[in-house]
Amino acid sequence: MTPQKNEQISFQPAVLIQKKRDGKVLTPDEIKFFVKGVTEATWSDAQIGAWLMAVTIRGMTLDETVALTDAMLRSGERFEYGPQESTADKHSTGGLGDKVTLLLAPLAAACGLKVPSMAGRALGHTGGTLDKLESIPGFKVYLDKKSILQQLKEVGCVVFGQTAEVCPADRKLYATRDVTATVECIPLIVASILSKKLAEGTKTLVMDVKVGSGAFMKTKKQAKELSKNLIKVAKKLGLQCRVLITDMSQPLGETVGNSLEVLESVELLKTGRGAADLKEITIALCAHMLHASRKVKTYEEGRKLALSKLEDGSAWEKFKEMAKRQGAQVSALNADDVEKTLAPTSSHTFTFRAHKRAYVSGFDGERLGRLLISLGGGRKVPTDILDPRVGFRVLKKTGAKVEAKDPLLEVFLKEPLTDSLKTFIQKELSHCIHLSASRPKPAKLIEEVLLS
Ligand code: URA
Repeated sequence: MTPQKNEQISFQPAVLIQKKRDGKVLTPDEIKFFVKGVTEATWSDAQIGAWLMAVTIRGMTLDETVALTDAMLRSGERFEYGPQESTADKHSTGGLGDKVTLLLAPLAAACGLKVPSMAGRALGHTGGTLDKLESIPGFKVYLDKKSILQQLKEVGCVVFGQTAEVCPADRKLYATRDVTATVECIPLIVASILSKKLAEGTKTLVMDVKVGSGAFMKTKKQAKELSKNLIKVAKKLGLQCRVLITDMSQPLGETVGNSLEVLESVELLKTGRGAADLKEITIALCAHMLHASRKVKTYEEGRKLALSKLEDGSAWEKFKEMAKRQGAQVSALNADDVEKTLAPTSSHTFTFRAHKRAYVSGFDGERLGRLLISLGGGRKVPTDILDPRVGFRVLKKTGAKVEAKDPLLEVFLKEPLTDSLKTFIQKELSHCIHLSASRPKPAKLIEEVLLS
């Protein structure tokens, strides 16, 4: 009797893992078999982790990456919109303090775009939009298709997570990569991001590829390679994509950690004022979304529109509409002391100070992100429940001149500070924040823009 295709020896998980482990190229059918195994849970967690590690070490060709993206996209449903709908979205490759989606989704909607933003949880040492939004009491990120489409039509923006119906393969792979040191892998990043963006059906995509110590791509060369791969795979699968390579050599804005980042975003939305880097990147990304989707004729026109909608409170109104629609407590959103009720922060704090007169010359962003996880602000295993109140307020950014004992960073803890915890935090932070005798050269916030 001839074996069925799926019974053939090459279609056994261990054989496929071995093939990739040994540096061979997988066929589209073999990749589909893997994604099916992930989606239908016929591959064990150990086999999925081993496959991901083999890909992380051996890499993938462009054709393999396209096949993986396509199979992940087809693991669930895909949204479609009428020709009149100007859908646009942005996605970041991840960084420290990157809260831009919280600002940009309502801002772009206030500018007239429809933003169906499928986002992710924390990944590796970086935070995740879904975790940030869930620190708002009542906010739901798992929505059914009907509610997503209805909200998009009526509010203009919706931020939601992968479910059993939409991108189930990425949901599983994302959570597995988070805890198996398989995040910093270009084909896996490309397939993860683009499968979500293709499934949500956005017609225009602006990518924010982060580069620096707090990003997955530590060098400009790696960031450029990731950018080119994103553009090529998006093009092969019919998605218009523009890439901005942006600085992640220090945390974005002034806060890191879920509740603190929500509060920083709310402050910027409410007042139009906030950290210069955060505001600039939000405006620039919005202007690119508007320009790429032809809502405006020039990038400069997009900037003007975005700035006016941020500063006149329209984006804040949209944020409230979106949050209310997704279950956030209305009283918390409308309260005068929104800071206390919307995303409560911890009262257990500790201030880390400079040990000498110097300039802040840089950050080890990855180590700072790992410290946040150690303190309970992230996950070490998928079942960990993170504490949204854990975080950092960055008091001095790169280039700042400080005197001995000047405060550099405030730590928000989930529990009272003990002597041993203080020693641990102080030792870690002394490696995370670099001081030097000379003023460092400022990094460019937007290093490069690549068009498809
Ligand atoms: N964002 C994603 O959705 N996936 C990645 O792999 C990295 C960033």
